[in-house]
Amino acid sequence: VQRLYDLSSHENFYLHHGDLTDGGSVFRLLSEIKPNEIYNLGAQSHVRVSFDVPEATANINALGTLRLLEAIRILKLHEGEHSVRFYQASSSEMFGNSAAPQNEDTSFTPLSPYATSKLSAYWYVRNYRESYGVHASNGILFNHESPVRGEEFVTRKITKAIAAIKAGEQDILKIGNLESRRDWGHAADYVEGMWMMLQQEMPDDYVLATGQSYSVRDFINTAFMLSGVALEWKGAGLDEVARDLKTNRVLVAVDPQFFRPNELHELVGDAAKAKSVLGWQPQISFTELVRDMLAYDQMSEEENKAHDRISAAE
Ligand code: GDP
Repeated sequence: VQRLYDLSSHENFYLHHGDLTDGGSVFRLLSEIKPNEIYNLGAQSHVRVSFDVPEATANINALGTLRLLEAIRILKLHEGEHSVRFYQASSSEMFGNSAAPQNEDTSFTPLSPYATSKLSAYWYVRNYRESYGVHASNGILFNHESPVRGEEFVTRKITKAIAAIKAGEQDILKIGNLESRRDWGHAADYVEGMWMMLQQEMPDDYVLATGQSYSVRDFINTAFMLSGVALEWKGAGLDEVARDLKTNRVLVAVDPQFFRPNELHELVGDAAKAKSVLGWQPQISFTELVRDMLAYDQMSEEENKAHDRISAAE
């Protein structure tokens, strides 16, 4: 929520209150605003949390999308000259463990309440497109990260931990599955792709991905390396740790509380369709992404320290 409030200082940005689990509020907002583009990014978006709150996840992610589409249909926002265009944030999680690389024709095998809710929303979008002619598109986005990524996601957890360790605020990074592989891109590239989908004459479904996967271990190694620390890994399974090669201090350890009831081992996307139809091409490399996230977290740590120094002096 804070990230939304931060945005509201921008010119021409209006923050309206509503709730995807409250059909009346969704209906009222759409009837008042009559938007020409809607980007439905609203979700309970954390996979592990979805195992704890599966019903809430379905209500927000699946029924929330249905509420938006129903409001469009009943208000007839999809008809006429300035008809609405709708973007649905579908997810690579819908592919489950289908063989990589995954594209628009890959079969869906959702393995979590989150993925199942997103697949349900994906089909509502296709239903409303095919049954009522709503200009509604699914963007099937692979993991996309940035300095404002939620801190419960593994990339941000790692870059924040490194900044905190360097500032002397944290001793160790505790992590779950080191071997799972993700296709991590920069959110800035992906947001442009979302916008491009809505500028098309015809609605459709598109995969956005970089086409390259890295393991959680790769992410950790790259992030520590960019902050000037070479790691050495030792041990196996729950006993595996990474030490600072110079000082021998343990900086990373495995903690089973971050394992999941069901794990997706590898996600790698094939964005050939988005490239040829939309002309979309991600510009920011994996290393640049990690550097961008680290720089932000290190700067925040320094600002916090400066703030603490000022408060202590006062
Ligand atoms: P997801 O792909 O949408 O689930 O994004 P996440 O960033 O939450 O997780 C990506 C991968 O990192 C998954 O395979 C997790 O099992 C793995 N992982 C390993 N350790 C952690 C951890 O401490 N937190 C999170 N969130 N994920 C972890």
